[in-house]
Amino acid sequence: MLELESVSVDYGAVKAVQSVSLRVEEGEVVALLGPNGAGKTSLISAVMGIVPVSSGTIRFAGQDVTFASPEDKVRKGIGISPEGRRVFSNLTVAENLQLGASAQPDKAVRAEQLAKYLEMFPILKQRYRQKAGTLSGGEQQQLAISRCLMSRPRIVMLDEPSLGLAPVIVEKIFDLIAELKASGLTILLVEQNANEALSIADRAYLLHSGRLRFEGAAQDLFNSDDLMTHYMGVG
Ligand code: ATP
Repeated sequence: MLELESVSVDYGAVKAVQSVSLRVEEGEVVALLGPNGAGKTSLISAVMGIVPVSSGTIRFAGQDVTFASPEDKVRKGIGISPEGRRVFSNLTVAENLQLGASAQPDKAVRAEQLAKYLEMFPILKQRYRQKAGTLSGGEQQQLAISRCLMSRPRIVMLDEPSLGLAPVIVEKIFDLIAELKASGLTILLVEQNANEALSIADRAYLLHSGRLRFEGAAQDLFNSDDLMTHYMGVG
């Protein structure tokens, strides 16, 4: 469904992503792991069209989308839940969710989507008229994810959904990701929380200093003490 071929991202002299090839098949959960500064956010920002690709090709559903605008990519079915749970703090939960669906012209479809995600994320139903900035970290993360899902993406890229959350909330977020996986959604999961991500992913890529160091079954990376210790600082 999503295919990257030798993609590089440069910020002036900084080579953030160097010739990375990666694919995500329909219905798969693929983990993109790596320590701070590895290039994970740069890579998915390039997929979204938020930062330019300096070389390489990005294909989505068989089409070359390397130079498509972010708006075009949203229309084609690529969704992103950015790092740092960027919700609009001064808008209510309801308004944040409506913004996520703004590209969807059909009112009935929008209402259906809203009902679906309020059921999946009951806390958002309880906080519906509350300003997003008053939500807890875990609640904001749920809002960021559901806002992204409101655009009905075919693939969703989640950028560090567990970052900065208490362990019990991290568990809840991963339960939700498992639920999304069970519903058939295709997911590219960017995480530093390697063990949790690998327990849910089908396949995994390990990025370090902008280069791929591993690609394969999530279980194989999970079992590779050497790689995990060397690149992720966990054993
Ligand atoms: P983190 O988990 O800390 O967000 P990451 O794996 O997502 O890390 P990136 O944020 O993609 O990594 O950063 C990769 C490299 O590119 C880093 O060296 C970073 O300092 C650099 N970088 C990121 N954004 C910019 C920018 N706008 N201008 C210059 N350099 C940047």
